[in-house]
Amino acid sequence: MRKLLITIDGPAGAGKTTVSRTLANRLNYNYIDTGALYRGVAFEAKAAGIPSNDDKKLEDLCRRLELKFIRNEKGTRLFSGTSDITDQLRTPEMSMMASAVSARPIVRQALLDVQHKMGAEKAAVFEGRDMGTVVFPEADVKFFLTADLKTRAKRRYKELAKKAPQNLDNVEKDMKLRDQNDSTRDTAPLKSADDAVLIDSTDIPVEGVVEKMMDYINQKLSNL
Ligand code: C5P
Repeated sequence: MRKLLITIDGPAGAGKTTVSRTLANRLNYNYIDTGALYRGVAFEAKAAGIPSNDDKKLEDLCRRLELKFIRNEKGTRLFSGTSDITDQLRTPEMSMMASAVSARPIVRQALLDVQHKMGAEKAAVFEGRDMGTVVFPEADVKFFLTADLKTRAKRRYKELAKKAPQNLDNVEKDMKLRDQNDSTRDTAPLKSADDAVLIDSTDIPVEGVVEKMMDYINQKLSNL
């Protein structure tokens, strides 16, 4: 069967990660969490004491960074060189820093090459903000997954509660700010591609979203 390249974009907390991972498993495709790459840059920038607006230092950092996904018994992990940094990426601080470094064109350019290499073989589900618009405008199937702000904030709150509990109002405030930063930046802002299928997950559970997506994908495969 022909292998597809599938993109899923959308704001924070819309359910992209769970849906993308489930979809990739169903299809036996690779799942690429591109947010983790931006978080990886943020993490290394912080470790090196680089402010998120220092383009020169960020450029040097990106040039020597070696970010790669490795699948092992713990799942798909992000390595920076030989260190598994996965567990340190999904904190409120890294979310904000990732959003800040991701607005720097120099960082986006560096990660563009990384993502293109990862997508060369297709058979992949790419999750992010600009997958269908900038990184893979020629993707076979594009989705834009969204949900209302309160629902997204509650989901993120529950997710964080397992590790480091936060106040729900703060989670919502942070999410709103991050979406605003991501949607209004000049380079590759968060937006739906014109040819993306829009899915609102406010009232649909993960399985329902995945089923909807599978319908589109099967339709696409049957027309090839
Ligand atoms: O998806 P996740 O919440 O992990 O992404 C963290 C941040 O990385 C986003 O808020 C966004 O600023 C940035 N990002 C991006 N482009 C992508 C993926 C993530 O700008 N393709």
